[in-house]
Amino acid sequence: MRKKMLISMVAVFLSVGLTGCGKPAHNFATEWSKNASEHWHACLDSDCTEKKDVGAHTFVEDATKGIAATCTATGKKVEVCSVCAYEKETTLPKTDHNYVAYPAGSRAATHDVDGVTAEKCSICGDVKETPIPALGHNFVVGATVKNVDNYDVIKHSCTCGKVALKMAVLDYSFLTEGSNSFRDGTIAEGDATEAGEGVRVAGGGSIKWRLPIEVAGRYRFSLGANPAPNAIGDPNIETKNGVKVNGVEVPLIPSGPYSGLGIQLGQFNQLVMAEFDAQVTAPGEDLEIEITQVASQRLFWGGELWLTQIPTAE
Ligand SMILES: [Zn+2]
Ligand SMILES: [Zn+2]
Ligand SMILES: [Zn+2]
Ligand SMILES: [Zn+2]
Repeated sequence: MRKKMLISMVAVFLSVGLTGCGKPAHNFATEWSKNASEHWHACLDSDCTEKKDVGAHTFVEDATKGIAATCTATGKKVEVCSVCAYEKETTLPKTDHNYVAYPAGSRAATHDVDGVTAEKCSICGDVKETPIPALGHNFVVGATVKNVDNYDVIKHSCTCGKVALKMAVLDYSFLTEGSNSFRDGTIAEGDATEAGEGVRVAGGGSIKWRLPIEVAGRYRFSLGANPAPNAIGDPNIETKNGVKVNGVEVPLIPSGPYSGLGIQLGQFNQLVMAEFDAQVTAPGEDLEIEITQVASQRLFWGGELWLTQIPTAE
């Protein structure tokens, strides 16, 4: 009796194991069940997880449900499983703009003003601009004239009409410890050995150049500069220097420490110092440019001084 009961229990367990839901056969749905990757027919019986006909989707694109991407909006592609009707959507990235030449927005470069090449999207109207670098002047050396101090000023002109004036300032025979004299004839070269070469503006002094102006306009003042070694003075032209034109302070360009400007020791670098408007000077009344120094730092100026006509500020 006991043995017979055991056998029938085993039979029940076996039956459960084989059919899952404890019934002679599963009760599969006719509708498809589905997830993102596959479809199947599920057994409808409660507590039964049996599936049949499990398979990957067979996607076919349905163009009527899709949206084409444009250059301003993403689109979407819709694919439908031909077996279970599951729908998959894929976002389509924006397309590239269709840029075409846009002369109305373009501007040719001149000698001293950058130009721009403009293109416009034929679909959305977006405008893309590519800068064209200024062509640069081709200054031709003209006459040498004397300034009021009887020093040479070399005139230059370009085919575009702009003019420039150049003065040589590399004359270290006039350096002086602290006196800041320029070409005053009182200082010997040997007095400035630490400078090596160049013209220095030391603590609290100033240095002046005078130039005859024949064309009124806006000018850029640049100067050859050889920064002092740190051992001699902290190289910084922002907080310790200024520029005056005819006695009036003008903004200093560029500003910042030499180290930040990437200027190398031991060579003269042409530095833009200021931009300002200048009137034509009468004979004997040259424009006076002055670099001032407010601290004990020493900078060495040399090479060339350039006064170059630039476009008028707007
Ligand atoms: Zn079942
Ligand atoms: Zn499917
Ligand atoms: Zn576009
Ligand atoms: Zn030019």
